[in-house]
Amino acid sequence: MKQPSPLSEFDLISRYFANLTASRGDVLLGIGDDAALLEVPPGMALAVSIDTLVAGVHFFADVSPESLGHKSLAVNLSDLAAMGAEPVWATLALTLPEANPSWLEAFVRGFSRLAAIHGVALVGGDTTRGPLSITVQIHGFVPVGQALRRSGARVGDRIYVTGSLGEAALALKRLQAGAGEGLSVELRQRLEMPQPRIEAGLSLRSLANSAIDLSDGLQADLGHILAASGVGARIRLQQLPLCSTVMDWIAKTGEWDQVLAGGDDYELCFTAAADRHDEIQQLSQKLNLAMSHIGEVESMPGLRVIKPDGQPWLATKRGFDHFATPGSGVSDG
Ligand SMILES: [Mg+2]
Repeated sequence: MKQPSPLSEFDLISRYFANLTASRGDVLLGIGDDAALLEVPPGMALAVSIDTLVAGVHFFADVSPESLGHKSLAVNLSDLAAMGAEPVWATLALTLPEANPSWLEAFVRGFSRLAAIHGVALVGGDTTRGPLSITVQIHGFVPVGQALRRSGARVGDRIYVTGSLGEAALALKRLQAGAGEGLSVELRQRLEMPQPRIEAGLSLRSLANSAIDLSDGLQADLGHILAASGVGARIRLQQLPLCSTVMDWIAKTGEWDQVLAGGDDYELCFTAAADRHDEIQQLSQKLNLAMSHIGEVESMPGLRVIKPDGQPWLATKRGFDHFATPGSGVSDG
């Protein structure tokens, strides 16, 4: 079968990328041959994760290409943060309906800025013509035996989340309702320019018993920790870290689903022994990043969510699942 011709622009793109992402001594051979040659230092495990973003499913097709370049790398970096891994290399597969130089330049700018911040080298790529979709594979180092896992939560652990929750979901809700003009820059950035919590993940290696990044909503992602660890938990709604916009919105609508199942937060959720609380507070101050204690790990299976009045909150919506809820993604209409 005849393949669609690759975009000749990729040579230019890759050269542009090569100039803007980090150059690293562990890249023995980067872009330009049939394969990259990479060196993993002794004693390090290679952490590998891959994510695909598809127009109309994961983002609006008309989103700013600079934001998209940022986000396509950020969601991958967030997975490394959750493992306590240091990001090092990325590969990129771009499928584009057309080669639009200004779109590509802006995409590369967003991607490269974030890559440079975290010392990530782009070591390979592929470009194809087709419906807009972006796949990034990220590679990181973590000392053998020290990775943060979902399966390490213990009964009695405290549960924490970094940053604040619900803003990205609220921004998405407003954009879907066609109310994008009234959206504040802060709220829009929480959806389009998530900041991966790499520093937090690295420091938590020695403090946390388990961790996950929040991509599908607190309820679903904390549920993954509980299932992998064979434990249950209780969290309290009034302890969730919410900005004033989200708090006002909850006060008006009572829709806690937006915070618990909205997704796209890209914060870390982790558990740690209660006697590590002071160290976690110190780390939070050092990184200038909130680490909020939201509940405890318990032996009884399942997640119990407690409302401010002490009554249990009952879920009405699950975390975002592309296969379980077809058609519920972003419309590119
Ligand atoms: Mg993840």
